[in-house]
Amino acid sequence: MEIFSVVNRDFCLILLISFLISCNEEIQQNAEPVTLNDSSHKDSARSPELKIPEYVPDSMKNTFASVKVGYIDFEGVEKSGFLIVHKDLGKEVVEIFQLLKTIGFPIDKINPMSDYGWDDDLSMEDNNTSAFNYRRIKNSKQISNHALGCAIDLNPVQNPFVKRGVFSPANSYYERDSLGVVLKEGKVVQIFKDYGWSWGGDWRSVQDYQHFEKRLKR
Ligand SMILES: [Zn+2]
Repeated sequence: MEIFSVVNRDFCLILLISFLISCNEEIQQNAEPVTLNDSSHKDSARSPELKIPEYVPDSMKNTFASVKVGYIDFEGVEKSGFLIVHKDLGKEVVEIFQLLKTIGFPIDKINPMSDYGWDDDLSMEDNNTSAFNYRRIKNSKQISNHALGCAIDLNPVQNPFVKRGVFSPANSYYERDSLGVVLKEGKVVQIFKDYGWSWGGDWRSVQDYQHFEKRLKR
């Protein structure tokens, strides 16, 4: 009887260990390293990284994800920040920023847009790289692709929005040798285009050198 109980105990122990190992493998296989805070998750409202303003229509509120991206700042220090994007673009945005890091493209900072009260001018003047913002296109009534989480602005001070010779933000400049500048023939534009994104520097009526966007298939 004692022998059986020992065997049984050992057998149960082995079963338990193999169950734990298989669970662990499952977790690793199913790990989603990309979308950290899907807004459909019930806890998302408490996430400091996924802040959506109340004025965003309810029908859109579950279409966003907050993704953690790594980058190298202007001092060469490795950092990470959160970008809010459309949840269908979360995975590729992380990949794109990994590639930007690989080629050594520096990014000044990635702060949450909510830190600037969702004011794009303040964010741009601070040279903040950002994505989602529920707003209209500058000087237009048309809703921006940023409102859908389908656009990203990189280093706005080095990559201005230019309309009829007027640069935005006011402290911006566009010089090909500056740190973090996006150039037409450069690798940054190519990386985004490889993922099917378009670049505002290619536009005719205005140039938006900081801006990349992708239209999602509906
Ligand atoms: Zn933009």
